[in-house]
Amino acid sequence: MTNNTAFELPITPQIQVSGWAGDRATPGGGPELPVFYPATGQKISVVIEDDEASVDIAVTTARKAFDKGPWPGLSNSERINVLERCGQVIRDNADELARLECAATGLILRELKERHMVRAAHNFRFFADYISQRSGERYDQTPGYMTTVVREPVGVAALIAPWNAPVALATMKIAASLSFGNTCVLKPSEQTPLALARLVALLQDVLPDGVLTLVNGRGPTTGAALVDHHGIDLVSFTGGTETGRTIMSAAGRRLVPTTMELGGKSANIIFASADYERAIDGALLGIFSNNGQQCLAGSRILVERSIFDDFVGRFIERAQQIRVGDPTQAETELGPLASLSHMQRVLSFVDTARSDGGTLLTGGRRREDLGNGYFVSPTAVSVPSNAAQTAQNEIFGPFATFLPFDTADEAVAIANDTQFGLVSYVWSDHLPTVMNVTERLCSGVVWVNTPMMRELRAPFGGYKNSGVGREGGASCEAFFTEEKTVTMPKIQPTFRRLGSTGE
Ligand code: NDP
Repeated sequence: MTNNTAFELPITPQIQVSGWAGDRATPGGGPELPVFYPATGQKISVVIEDDEASVDIAVTTARKAFDKGPWPGLSNSERINVLERCGQVIRDNADELARLECAATGLILRELKERHMVRAAHNFRFFADYISQRSGERYDQTPGYMTTVVREPVGVAALIAPWNAPVALATMKIAASLSFGNTCVLKPSEQTPLALARLVALLQDVLPDGVLTLVNGRGPTTGAALVDHHGIDLVSFTGGTETGRTIMSAAGRRLVPTTMELGGKSANIIFASADYERAIDGALLGIFSNNGQQCLAGSRILVERSIFDDFVGRFIERAQQIRVGDPTQAETELGPLASLSHMQRVLSFVDTARSDGGTLLTGGRRREDLGNGYFVSPTAVSVPSNAAQTAQNEIFGPFATFLPFDTADEAVAIANDTQFGLVSYVWSDHLPTVMNVTERLCSGVVWVNTPMMRELRAPFGGYKNSGVGREGGASCEAFFTEEKTVTMPKIQPTFRRLGSTGE
């Protein structure tokens, strides 16, 4: 294997990353865990794992900030001001944050700057705008009563983020949690702690002490200690379905509410009536963007049989032209996978597809010519039926599985025949087809003739094993607040007087 000295690191290697509790680093206490640059396989940093005692300090700090600090009681305008400043911190430091994110994830630097950091800053702006428009409810009852419903912060939220888009996904949780007056403890994936650690440090200049704390470490140790901590009132989780089950069971023992954004195996349904060029663009973007590591990937591409061969041929032609390589270079379109073990898992599905009677259409190999990085060429297989493992399992890489269909009914049946239900894509210019199919798809989101257009005011989340609860404006408000109903008389109405003899 060649040594890719040509790939420069996006950052100067760092000595170590620690957690954060109020005005100081957490003690850590656990082992040092290596962080690798996926484009070269080089170790670029270590993260100190927070053990149970260290997690306790981070949670207790956030607890104190909630119980005794100013944050939950701030006026809306004061909190909006802080949220806007958080967004500005991200805009001001976007280059550094993007480089740190690139260094741990291998995501394309240009994409990180132009999309992820912009979105991260926007998450704070969005919730600042959202709370500026909220008011409580009021009901006038006869005779002479008034009932108001107010929403109050819940307490301390544990925010657990995955490795595939750490800053973009975690800032949604941080902004939502803070905007409704909660304090929070963030746990990034131990594989990708760099940008979030820096962001938390930067935000300390804007946020009151202890409002946002950070713990680092592996899920089964640090993550589990966080979820089990008696000081945690809420858990907002994004990650894999099995981990979601574990966390929900643990939280359930203490009746702590959770929201679960989990995996997907989304159908991308392409009808012969689709705008062909747009559908090809959408299918490629749906599976190969974010280095193929996205929960909302359109990873099962269902194509109407009359155009199947031609569509697949065009898709392969384009997939083979995708520029795979150095994530710091502007022209790169597909970077490395996040880790060696993940790359090996993704590639193992080529044999799985073959053993299920499938055909490798393109890719399916490590790009060894690019050195020691975890690069995989854009991959596509076709399989004989939706029962194939590559049609059922979330692969979470640049790996498309093609299946033909004959009728809209069959397309819907295949699309819904999965344990997941996060998103679906429908491509057709025939409105009745679109309406008919959209209504019957079992997924939390349906994108019609467009790839991945997220509206933050609308709910985002999955049916079935893709999640519990939703993220988005009102959905986040429902999760991150307690409702309180207060009823009082406006005048002095009469009511039943037990034990009184003076009638
Ligand atoms: P994991 O479920 O492995 O991990 C997610 C996070 O949970 C990590 O921070 C992990 O820590 C932590 N964790 C693991 N075990 C526990 C535990 N027992 N208690 C508490 N925390 C724990 O997912 P990945 O990081 O592998 O992310 C990929 C998955 O995320 C995919 O399935 C993908 O579909 C899903 N995802 C869903 C999205 C959605 O919005 N629906 C968006 C993006 C991704 P550590 O990694 O340090 O061990």
